[in-house]
Amino acid sequence: MFTRDFADEAAGYQSVLTEIRRDLHQIPEFGIDLPKTRERVLASIHGLGEIHLSELQSSIVLHIKGAQPGPTVLLRADMDALAVTEATGLDFASTNGYMHACGHDLHMAIGIGAAHLVATHKDKLKGDVIIWFQPGEEGHGGADIMLEENLHMITGSKPIAAYGIHVTSSWQAPYTFGGKSGAMMASASDMLVTFKGRGGHGSSPWMAKDPISVMNEAISALQTMVTKRFNAFDPVVVNVGWVRAGDEHTTNVIPETASFGATIRTFSPGNLAKVQQYAGELLDGIAKAFDVEVTYDIGAHPTEVVMNDPAATERVRRVVKETFGEDRWMEWPHPIAGAEDFGSIVREIPGAFIFLGASPDKDGWMTAAPNHSNYATFDEGVLPDGAALLAGLAFEAVEDWHSAQ
Ligand SMILES: [Zn+2]
Repeated sequence: MFTRDFADEAAGYQSVLTEIRRDLHQIPEFGIDLPKTRERVLASIHGLGEIHLSELQSSIVLHIKGAQPGPTVLLRADMDALAVTEATGLDFASTNGYMHACGHDLHMAIGIGAAHLVATHKDKLKGDVIIWFQPGEEGHGGADIMLEENLHMITGSKPIAAYGIHVTSSWQAPYTFGGKSGAMMASASDMLVTFKGRGGHGSSPWMAKDPISVMNEAISALQTMVTKRFNAFDPVVVNVGWVRAGDEHTTNVIPETASFGATIRTFSPGNLAKVQQYAGELLDGIAKAFDVEVTYDIGAHPTEVVMNDPAATERVRRVVKETFGEDRWMEWPHPIAGAEDFGSIVREIPGAFIFLGASPDKDGWMTAAPNHSNYATFDEGVLPDGAALLAGLAFEAVEDWHSAQ
């Protein structure tokens, strides 16, 4: 068992990985251009393998060649922070207006730890490992840019498996690994709608075409669409996040336009297309009924469903239970409605995305500040096990491939 040996060895990395994580935590950067972050990661993986840098964004691919030829496995760590002002009060809190509130600083430290484990044991590796340090996860399309640049193909053969770990400050018991096969996280996209009527005097709405009341009908009808047109066992979420119409300083004017934006979450590949069709018909129908115009963009900025491959997920369950014990695995009963661009990676490569409980509050983790909160905190004690699992999964996947030949 590679992972067990790696876990013992990674325990010795604790202080180094903590230091790396804290350095990264103090220089959070947003989006796809992360020069300081990239520099810090590069300094920590120097000499471990071949480095491929993108020109389009701050991604890094580390390629570690095994002693013998064989298949390629991809490991992924995301790098970007959120536009959140940190309020944790930690000694190493960020002060630049951005925050690693989703734990991507821990993901980089885990990826760096895994890189050291793989490189140290490459004499036993019968294949190649590529480690992606990926910017732009938080809605900036970073994974898709890396795929478009063919950075998954740098060894010349498509990886047989892809793995990524996400820490959570509240959703899962500390130190447990969790996930499920099949749909694990939602596809997220946007719906942007504008109704255009005819402005007028608020005393005489029949002389105008009021877009606000039509928007109101549409927002209610979308919820009816969700429950009446979609299978409750393959859920869809449509949630309006903003509405805009009129002027707050006046009540006697009917404005010309009314707009709203909603997020759409789906969990099976075909459902977004159905939302596009049904919501489009509904908006057109309501606009026609009230004689106003409507324009919309349904399904803008889509991310893929994170669809975990059954065999890749089974390997995680087995390795976690054998290495860390039965109680360290938490089988998810259902997917979560959050989204992740790891979905683009597992669309191309069979793989699994795994969550790792990292709340520092052993008893109160369920009510701890969640990921993305300005108060979110994470336990660095999980870093060595995370690194051991990622590195171990790469070796196990390669071994499994050879024994199946
Ligand atoms: Zn995240």
